[in-house]
Amino acid sequence: MPIIKAAVCHEFGSPLVIEDVQLAAPRDGEVEVRLDAVAICHSDISYAEGAWGGFLPAVYGHEAAGVISAVGDNVQSFAEGDSVVVTLIRSCGSCPSCAGGVPTLCETPYDAINGPLKTTDGAPLMQAMACGAFAERVVVDQRQIVKIPNEIAKDVAALISCGVITGVGAAVNAAKLRAGEDVVVIGAGGVGLNAIQGARIAGARRIVAVDLSEEKLEVAKEFGATHTVLGRLDAPWKASYKALGGRGADVVLVTVGAIPAYEQATRYLGVGGRMVMIGMPHSGAKASYEPVIMAAIGQGMIGSKMGDVVIQRDIPWMVDLYQQGRLKLDELISGRWSLEDINAAIADTKTGSARRNVILFDR
Ligand SMILES: [Zn+2]
Ligand SMILES: [Zn+2]
Repeated sequence: MPIIKAAVCHEFGSPLVIEDVQLAAPRDGEVEVRLDAVAICHSDISYAEGAWGGFLPAVYGHEAAGVISAVGDNVQSFAEGDSVVVTLIRSCGSCPSCAGGVPTLCETPYDAINGPLKTTDGAPLMQAMACGAFAERVVVDQRQIVKIPNEIAKDVAALISCGVITGVGAAVNAAKLRAGEDVVVIGAGGVGLNAIQGARIAGARRIVAVDLSEEKLEVAKEFGATHTVLGRLDAPWKASYKALGGRGADVVLVTVGAIPAYEQATRYLGVGGRMVMIGMPHSGAKASYEPVIMAAIGQGMIGSKMGDVVIQRDIPWMVDLYQQGRLKLDELISGRWSLEDINAAIADTKTGSARRNVILFDR
């Protein structure tokens, strides 16, 4: 099997190790993509810290873009040389969720431990999130990728495959935001900024960004927040009511995994409002709510994975918006790193001050 370089997690909480690994050739319906860029997402960090468990050793990384370098059998829509974004949404196309138009919730399990990756000794190596994109190349299913114009820079394109679809999709697909509704976005990080953009694109009336950092709130304004609230205030939702003319929001998008954020989120909601749960707390973490209030004033909670996107429909749309200047992507990148420096890039992401850090591969 061909040998590639990858950043491997051998122990939760320890630095990733750059080493040679084996990558199998694409099988039926699969493609091999030579990566140009992979961004570091908070999910990668949570996995590497052991927040959600899982098999080790593992290769994380799932926000990637590159060029197809080989195709397996029964791949009709893609060819070698195509520029693509690679997502973690491996969907079978025929289970009840896929058939019902929600491929992000595909019910067919994928055996990532016995996927295309192996150690050089031939031992199992987990292709985490069905991508394993902290590596020079990936082998993924053709349903996980979408063609993009060659002229779009791959570092920018990589962002689309997780943070952008998750944030924009949460506003448009999950919240089903109608033009004129008021929105609160909790968290102005990688996903939060995209949720703000999604709310703007969907025609929100007012968009209130909430974050613990004043610096991030300034950035939120660049992405379309009309008002900002410092989450460190006492009862910060009161500042939101003020911004929204004395009432709660129609939609609250929770884009961070912190439990206090989840517990406060319903306080921002107005009568009949709905909360969309996007941020991913650690396994076992619990939040509490007062159901009587939610029942009495008709509030709802909706979980949203990967923005409920259909990538073949939504990614070309987002690419067009970007090319028309209506979706900001370049401004999301705060640092570019080499694979060798991935641990430094992860540390920088963990400080919370970065937007997106992107690993670029040499060509
Ligand atoms: Zn992600
Ligand atoms: Zn499925």
